[in-house]
Amino acid sequence: MSHDGGMDPQPRDAELYLRAGRSTFLRIKLDVLYNNISILKQRCSQQTDVIAVVKANAYGHGSVEISRYLESRGVGHFAVATPEEGAQLRQAGIQGHILVLGNAVEDDIATLMKYELTPTVAELKFLQAWHKAITKDSVSNNSVANDINSSNNSGERVRDRHQVVLKIDTGMSRNGCQPHDVPFLTEFCQTHGLTIHSVMTHFSQAWDNPYFTKQQLNTFMTLVEPFRASGVKVHVANSAAIIRGFGTQLDFIRPGICMYGLPPDPSQDTAELVESLGLRPVLSWQARPTLIKQLPQGRVVGYDNTYTTRSTETIATFSLGYADGYNRLLSDRGVVSVDEDGLQLPVVGRVSMDAITVLLDKPRSSSTTFNIITDDFASPNSVTKMAATLGTIPYEVTTSLASRLPRVFVSGGHFVAITKSLMKDGRL
Ligand SMILES: *Cc1c(COP(=O)(O)O)cnc(C)c1O
Repeated sequence: MSHDGGMDPQPRDAELYLRAGRSTFLRIKLDVLYNNISILKQRCSQQTDVIAVVKANAYGHGSVEISRYLESRGVGHFAVATPEEGAQLRQAGIQGHILVLGNAVEDDIATLMKYELTPTVAELKFLQAWHKAITKDSVSNNSVANDINSSNNSGERVRDRHQVVLKIDTGMSRNGCQPHDVPFLTEFCQTHGLTIHSVMTHFSQAWDNPYFTKQQLNTFMTLVEPFRASGVKVHVANSAAIIRGFGTQLDFIRPGICMYGLPPDPSQDTAELVESLGLRPVLSWQARPTLIKQLPQGRVVGYDNTYTTRSTETIATFSLGYADGYNRLLSDRGVVSVDEDGLQLPVVGRVSMDAITVLLDKPRSSSTTFNIITDDFASPNSVTKMAATLGTIPYEVTTSLASRLPRVFVSGGHFVAITKSLMKDGRL
């Protein structure tokens, strides 16, 4: 049985369950990811490059395999949240530029340097510590050319390896330096031979507050104008800004959620707009029942006896639960769908740590694949609708998907790789 019917051939489900070693797995379609990036790039200038935001395990999709794939397709810049996330990518062989988005603090320096990660800087204090660490590193690693101010190749390399990204707070008041600090930070970099990779800011409400976003953008552009003239690159746009057209003519864009084919907020309108652009969810979540039984009327189901069968009913148990990222607030509210006929079936009873129970319309084969999360935008078990049901945003639904869930990566209708957190690298 194919996942999507004849048009888009997919590996046989039976093979994937076997590889996953579990009755459930996330299916990650890499071609869809690439197509989404192409769509986002079309909204930008020809020169605009992509920094693929792969923080939080690539929004739950699996950052190592996502980054390996993107690098093989020519993406050269990645952004993560923490130094450890960056180190994980380096250990997996990622060669490209890796930006760590969180405010850099002194304790991060050892990891940043060891794995050649670029910090996001907001404070002079950090730049001073960074410069000191680089100077030491240069002396110990570079016995021939140990002067970082020398203009020979070794000196250049050290400087580039230890470049920084400066972040300006233009109104969000979370990360970044205040506008009046910009001259001090840039001057320190210039006088101490630190390369500024780029200067950035971040929007707080790009999706639905064009007035405030424009103000942020204007503040930023005024501040960075002198540096742009000297070739320093600049970037501002997250997914919402890319779609709304803020900062899409600059040197980089930083797409996250829309690269994964999901809307930045859970409203119907937003989902429809994202879908109309051709963006598609990269992720779906499949499972088949581990037990199917017929129960008489009046039986209670699950913890706390919240559900009682109303007649003779067929109940299927799936071995996945809130520890896998299926939110417990979906107890007696969630829906799963069947590939074969598109039917939607209710989750009945409590979501347990490792199990959910679903009311079937009829006895079905235990080899039937059900979608716990579908890649169809409109279904109640899409990421978007689940986020709406839960009163949250699509970001939280996918980043909550546990690492113990096997992730199966497919491309061109072929199995590419699988990750299993409890096993060593399961890649072929
Ligand atoms: C997470 C993040 C992004 C990506 O945001 P999306 O809304 O997922 O596109 C871009 N820039 C920064 C600084 C971020 O922290």
